[in-house]
Amino acid sequence: MIREPDLREEILRFGRLCYERRLLVAMDGNLSVRLPSGQVLCTRAGCHKGFLCDDDLLVVDASGHVRRGEGRPTSEIFMHLACYRERPDVQAVIHAHPPLCVAFTIAGVSMDRCVLPEVVLTLGSIPTAPYRTTGTPDLAELIGEYARSWDAILMDTHGAICVGGDLLTAFCRLETMEHTALILKTAQDLGGVRNLPPEEALRLRRLGLERYGGPPAAAAAAQEPPAFRMLRVTTKPVAALDPRAPPPADLDPDVEEAVVRELVKRLRG
Ligand SMILES: [Zn+2]
Repeated sequence: MIREPDLREEILRFGRLCYERRLLVAMDGNLSVRLPSGQVLCTRAGCHKGFLCDDDLLVVDASGHVRRGEGRPTSEIFMHLACYRERPDVQAVIHAHPPLCVAFTIAGVSMDRCVLPEVVLTLGSIPTAPYRTTGTPDLAELIGEYARSWDAILMDTHGAICVGGDLLTAFCRLETMEHTALILKTAQDLGGVRNLPPEEALRLRRLGLERYGGPPAAAAAAQEPPAFRMLRVTTKPVAALDPRAPPPADLDPDVEEAVVRELVKRLRG
């Protein structure tokens, strides 16, 4: 079991790293870990994550009341607490404002698709939770719901929240989100973004859940028989039957979208 002094040191280190990697700026974002006592160690409101010191850390209980430390907890602490409540396996939560990811939500471009094998293996895909006012119980409840099925969640016009068995895992997920946004944007600028074939996406997701674990709801859903195969057979594109049409290298984009939506729904549980 990791001791509290080591966990405190880790929060400082990953807070600074988030700032250095430009995943947040100024007083943005917050980090927390679950303590062996069940209470939560978190960054306080209004501290710069690039210059964190031990005095910036507070211990709160499951209701968000301060038990140790000076200052008040961030208003976003309730999102963290909702993640811990919904996911007994989660020991660390990072909330940041990764700029490319947030820009995707502002532009209304979804990252909830299966494009990069490594991302499908580790995260499935990256959903966007609909807009809710920051710091409200509404947002906390919504994020708790998403956390049942996802380890990395985007919040519309706001930021990202990533959970993990430790801070390093949560941080890796946050970095992966922003890196994925950069790759998707670059691909789009160069000509377009291709989804993985749905069967391959499901195969990768199952492999990833076996290999690395993941949200219990996603693990359960991934074991169900893939209904999208039926969808593929019954909605075979008519154009593919036309001898003058180019050979169908892939699914018709509309059909593919429907299949991917079905796949994402299943992986979400
Ligand atoms: Zn925020």
